[in-house]
Amino acid sequence: MTTSEQLFQRAKEVIPGGVNSPVRAFRAVGGNPLFIKAAQGPYLIDEDNNQYIELINSWGPMILGHANEMIQKAVSDAVQHSFSFGAPTRREVEMAELIISMVSSIEKVRMVNSGTEATMSAIRVARGFTGREKMIKFEGCYHGHGDSFLIAAGSGAVTMGVPDSPGVTKGVANDTLTAPFNDLYSVETLVEANKGQIAAIILEPVVGNMGLVLPEPGFLEGLRELCDKEGILLIFDEVMTGFRLSASGFQGITSVQPDLTTLGKIIGGGMPVGAYGGRKEIMDFVSPAGPVYQAGTLSGNPIAMAAGKAMLTYLNENPEVYTELDRIGAKLENGLRAGNQKAGKNFTINRIGSMYTLFFNEQPVTDFASAKASDLSMFGAYFQAMLKRGVYLAPSQFESLFISTALTDDLVDQIIAAHEVSLLEVLGG
Ligand code: PMP
Repeated sequence: MTTSEQLFQRAKEVIPGGVNSPVRAFRAVGGNPLFIKAAQGPYLIDEDNNQYIELINSWGPMILGHANEMIQKAVSDAVQHSFSFGAPTRREVEMAELIISMVSSIEKVRMVNSGTEATMSAIRVARGFTGREKMIKFEGCYHGHGDSFLIAAGSGAVTMGVPDSPGVTKGVANDTLTAPFNDLYSVETLVEANKGQIAAIILEPVVGNMGLVLPEPGFLEGLRELCDKEGILLIFDEVMTGFRLSASGFQGITSVQPDLTTLGKIIGGGMPVGAYGGRKEIMDFVSPAGPVYQAGTLSGNPIAMAAGKAMLTYLNENPEVYTELDRIGAKLENGLRAGNQKAGKNFTINRIGSMYTLFFNEQPVTDFASAKASDLSMFGAYFQAMLKRGVYLAPSQFESLFISTALTDDLVDQIIAAHEVSLLEVLGG
């Protein structure tokens, strides 16, 4: 028995399913999850001392690769002065100023401890501000595990087969309306049928949680126009895309600007951090400036702020990072496509910058239905074949992969070589 297998046995006795977040259990791909003891640059090292090139990067945060020295130094400097005060600090002000200077639509921002908290709070503010109760989300988008979002949810929820979770009351579920992604007409119909009742439309402007799906031209523009006409707040959940697709998030690439934005992942440099922000008059509804309550014992934690500030400062000062990530992403994409061709398959690859998904599906993937049409058992076999060759992918078809600046050209060549043989193996060639 490997050490990972032993640890998983022990874990299952004391932690539900043996993990603290469902996708980690490898349920969708079979086999035993690897227990990771360390990571360095582009590599994960498991408890049995196997080393893997990895394309998860903690589900996004580690855009500069693991154990980045600059962030390590910021954290070790900060820990000298205790871990938490529960009182305001200079770093929180600097962090807020930095975010506001980087993300154009954010005029005020509140720090929280996870992406889930960010989206839960943003929806509460949207409801408080508009005095309306319903919201629209998109099938296959994932906004964390807040009750209102576990309706047709993507990511681990669909991987585990529970996109509509037990435990969410009918009342809450009734206030969440869902539409297919990229289908403006459906949204217009929902808004018409619920006139004056929709507080917010929330979406991942580029979806990572049904696998990577891009907005079609006109979709975001159409949502913006509809929101303006109907007094609805548009919320971009940029927990994944924030500081990943540009130093100002996806909203730095598109002309469409949201009213509220949620952030997480990269903003904490690997520490548990989230944030929500937006127009001043909306954010001033948040307590203690306004009546909408939201709080946190560890919010704005000094160690987390130190890590996040070091990360954002670096990205702000080195925008060429994004050009380089796109170059390496394109190289990987081209290599994977060539491998698919050699195997006689025209599998869809959706990519933007350093995010991509290879779907085991030869049709275009533009929404949840087309994502779900992928061959999941083939994905599982491919995942295992790649792992065997030292490449650690996300253990579900319904996830985006994330490239870090630590991924070199040589490593990309290794991934492409592993892809070619793995694919042939899976297809029985
Ligand atoms: N929103 C999006 C777009 C996400 O991808 C995630 C997590 N993958 C969340 C919200 C929830 O963030 P967290 O897991 O930090 O609660």
